[in-house]
Amino acid sequence: MPSKPNPDAPLCECRWFERAARDDALPVVFDERMNEYHLVHTGGRGHSLFYHCPFCGGRAPDSLRKTYWTEVSIEESHRLHQLTKDITTPQQLFERFGEPDHDLEVGSSSMTLGSEDTPPETTLGPRRVVFRGLSDTADMHVRIDRYDRLWFSFMGRSIGPKQSDQASGDGDNGGTDR
Ligand SMILES: [Zn+2]
Repeated sequence: MPSKPNPDAPLCECRWFERAARDDALPVVFDERMNEYHLVHTGGRGHSLFYHCPFCGGRAPDSLRKTYWTEVSIEESHRLHQLTKDITTPQQLFERFGEPDHDLEVGSSSMTLGSEDTPPETTLGPRRVVFRGLSDTADMHVRIDRYDRLWFSFMGRSIGPKQSDQASGDGDNGGTDR
């Protein structure tokens, strides 16, 4: 792991993460499955996980990653980045990897968080596809935004109690190799 959260830091209470995730001008996204906030790299070259709030220094919300998901090694993450680094359009993505194992519209109001002064926002258009067969430990998640840009992330696989909307299907392996 490149860095660890400081366990002595208090949790962030300034709500910067929630505001940043709602702000289209900031490259911050909330991953509701992991309960994590990510910094999206320019050009869709991946995500970095926030461990601390850049504004108040408090800890980011506790990730569900360790509880529910396999750990993806740095080497494996690097391998997957190399595998996908030249893929920039949805067409290239599907030509290379075939049909995704999951194909989700990300359009529900659960995608953005509301607060006292801002209602939850509904975002139409973005789509998230998941490929499971590329790695022993990671699923490749690709968000396709409304401008057909791709946002890759490589996430550990569920190994624990499932969250309510998780379909069962850990055994299937429909992806194509390389
Ligand atoms: Zn904060």
